[in-house]
Parts: sequence; C-alpha cells; structure tokens
Amino acid sequence: MPQQLYAAVDIGGTKIAAALVDAGGTLLTRAELPTPAKGSAEDVMAVVAALVDSIARDPRWSATAGIGIGSAGPIDPVRGTVSPVNIPGWRDFPLVDHVRELDGVRGDVVLIGDGCAMAAGEHWRGAASGYDNALCLVVSTGVGAGLILDGALRTGPSGNAGHLGHISVDIEGEDCPCGSRGCVEIIASGTSIARWAARNGWRPSFDNVVESADRVAPPTAADIAASARAGDEIALAAFERAGRALAAGIACAAMLVDIRAAVIGGGVAKAGPLLLDPLRRHLTTYASLPFTRDLAILPATLGADAGLIGAAAALAERERGRGGTR
Ligand SMILES: [Zn+2]
Repeated sequence: MPQQLYAAVDIGGTKIAAALVDAGGTLLTRAELPTPAKGSAEDVMAVVAALVDSIARDPRWSATAGIGIGSAGPIDPVRGTVSPVNIPGWRDFPLVDHVRELDGVRGDVVLIGDGCAMAAGEHWRGAASGYDNALCLVVSTGVGAGLILDGALRTGPSGNAGHLGHISVDIEGEDCPCGSRGCVEIIASGTSIARWAARNGWRPSFDNVVESADRVAPPTAADIAASARAGDEIALAAFERAGRALAAGIACAAMLVDIRAAVIGGGVAKAGPLLLDPLRRHLTTYASLPFTRDLAILPATLGADAGLIGAAAALAERERGRGGTR
C-alpha cells in the first residue's frame, strides 16, 4: 500500500503556497504564488486553484488523504469560511466549499487559522517537538499564536483558541483595532514596533534603513532592528518594549494552562536576540510562580514552511481521530 500523503495550502496576505507532505511531515513538492491581495474573491481563489492544480500533477497525488488549509484570519472552521484582514476580497468566503469543488480533490478538507497551523507544524517537526504543552507565536505584521496542550493542537470550539495577540497586557493602553486596549499586538507586532519608534523620535539614517533607495513606505521592524544593532537607543527601546509585552502575554498563557515552552517565529523574530533577550529577561518578572519558572523560550525552526507542515499535521490528526490510516 502506498504511503499516506497530505496536501497542504497556506494562505497569507503576501503569498499563497501549496505542498504535498508525507506522513513524516517532509515537503515532497511545493508551489507558491503572490497573493492578489487587492483582487476580487475570484482572483484570489484562482491562485489557490492554480497551486492545487500544480501539486496535483505530481504522480504521488493519488495517495493524498485530503487537503489541510492554514489561513490568515479571522476564520470560521465550523462554516468553512475565511475573512483574512489583509485579503479584503474574501469576507465570509466559503473557502472549504470552493476547494472541495476543485478538480481532483479527494478526502477531507480541514481549515485552521495560521497561528494554529504554525503551532501544529512546529510541534510536529520543529522547535516544539518534544513538548506536550507549548505556545507557538508568529510575530509579524500582527501577533498570532497556537496552543499545544497534552500533546495535541487545541483550536477550541470556534477554531480561534490561542489568540495571544489580543490579550491585554496594559489595561490603560493604546486602543487596539480589535476593540480592546493595550493588546500584545498593539505593542509587539512589527507594525507596532516601527510605529512606536517613529512616534518617539526615531528617524532613519541612510545607513540603517534596509533597502532605503527611493523608498517612500513607512519604516518597518527590519529598519528598526538594523538601527538597534547599530546602537540607536530609541530602536533598542522599541524592541525592549515589544519583548516585555510578549513576556507578559506568554506568562499569562503559562499561568493559565501550564505550558513548558514558547516558540517564537515570524518575520520580527528574525531580529533574534534583539527581541528574545528582553523577552527572556522580562519573563522572569511576569512568570513569577514556581511552576512557570522553567519555561523555555525557543526560536522557531521551520521558517516559512511551518504553516504548510502544520496544515498537513491538522489533517493527519483529523484522520487519526476517525481511525484513518497514518
Ligand atoms: Zn487587540
């Protein structure tokens, strides 16, 4: 009998990727296209269809058990719909129904949020493997997360468990677009790091702006990181503040559900020690009770493939849950 394979699709605001994944979590074939983020619902779906068609040409496609989809949120896995903030053409878009109707698609179609997909991927093949209780974070233009508890991904009844980015860590803090205030995301996302630095007097010098030529776009977290490495005090303070907010949020998760590791991925995590050093230091303040003190802070190891591997993992878990082969 041929080895069981899983198809996976990862939908983000800048790119959409698809892959065939084997039962050990290794990518066998992979395809990627830019997201037509300003396009219509049909434009975006056409890219998903083209990518699925591309991986379906692999002769091993006939061994797939179904498709796991990880998507930027909000998502509604119960109805199979997605409304990614950065893809305005998709609002309550019935993605699962559309994927089911694609040529050659067989078996289950499972939808999870991108934070949950990253957590499932890092737990299966990455930095969280070996931990039965872990929180995995994506620190990027936003802050997403997913929870592994008792050895399994926990998405909750609405599919949105682990929304660490919108835990408030400053009850009198800045208003957050979600409606709350002082959320982790409004302090620690890449967008928030750059905005805080600019607001507090940070100005780009010719040396510390990444790809500075002719750029009129606002500064990014990568610009602030380059500046911090050069010793700029405002830039360093912006990362210090972000690390502190993440520490308070992670401590909250540790207090609530007794996690033993927090895995940090996403574009802003590429700042490495600039973000992780203050995070670890402040964690000693906020994770104050003895059972939270040995919490490991680990860099993610799967990079951009975590979402694809995690979407396949979610499908594999569904198959196991109903006694399918694995
Ligand atoms: Zn919020």
